[in-house]
Amino acid sequence: PVEHARAPIAQALSDLLEQVRGEDHGGAVADYIPELAKADPNLFGIAASTVFGRTYATGDTTHEFTIQSISKAFVYALVVDEHGIDDVRSHVGVEPSGAPFNAISFDSAGRPMNPMINLGAITATSLLGQGGADERFDSIRLGLSRFAGRGLQLDEAVYRSEASTGDRNHALGSLSRAEGMLRGAVDDVVDAYFRQCSVLVNVTDLAVMASTLAAGGVNPVTGDRVVGDEAARHTLSVMSSSGMYDRSGDWMVDVGMPAKSGVGGGIVAITPGKFGIGVFSPPLDAVGNSARGVAALKHLAHEFGFHPFARS
Ligand code: GLU
Repeated sequence: PVEHARAPIAQALSDLLEQVRGEDHGGAVADYIPELAKADPNLFGIAASTVFGRTYATGDTTHEFTIQSISKAFVYALVVDEHGIDDVRSHVGVEPSGAPFNAISFDSAGRPMNPMINLGAITATSLLGQGGADERFDSIRLGLSRFAGRGLQLDEAVYRSEASTGDRNHALGSLSRAEGMLRGAVDDVVDAYFRQCSVLVNVTDLAVMASTLAAGGVNPVTGDRVVGDEAARHTLSVMSSSGMYDRSGDWMVDVGMPAKSGVGGGIVAITPGKFGIGVFSPPLDAVGNSARGVAALKHLAHEFGFHPFARS
């Protein structure tokens, strides 16, 4: 249930939205596939969900967009929950790569550097479930839906667009398999990954998904334990070091909250034990993070005291 009540938090979020909307943050809507280029650049929504299951949302709160790379964090949580960190870590590392999201970035042991870049995300996806693309995607969709607390659907047009232009992701999958890291057939895994990126969410879903990580793996709205405490903790750690593409260091200084962004314009951020936050605005900055989303989260970090290393 979304609460638009005049609670202080709701009012503060709507003031924040209007403030950021009035500033010029520039950015451009993703256009690497034609389907994403159709997004309305004026859309803007912010939602926050507490670990006690209350959700506050403002702006374009019900507009659906594709989750894109934000899925990487939640699929990683599901994989770590299924296999344990040791097994997962022997296939995908936890070091920031400092390289763009689609880079060929292996460490000296032949592992993708981390699960937040495509190479590591595709490898992590390969570890979840087994079988063909359909079965693999079924487990992913179910897991993401449990994080959101409702059944999430696929955007077929975005999926087809991703799949028809995804040569580089196929190549990354093949390289990971050649290193002995990716499990299963590359085509099935990469197809499941394209669908994973094309799952539709709204900004309120992002807040609830984030609050599930904030609450140590229990969805605070449904009460469903989606992943264990440890899987939630490991995911937040990796998001802290590698969640914001190759601006993760700047992000720690400017915002500090573990976060993950996607080229659909969404960002999730977490204050552990307190809030999950979702922000959505399609225009992206130069590294692919939502420009207004970054601005809103900087305000939250500093004016609301959400930076985890701030003393007040
Ligand atoms: N589906 C996109 C890709 O793999 C995800 C991009 C993103 O959100 O970073 O290229």
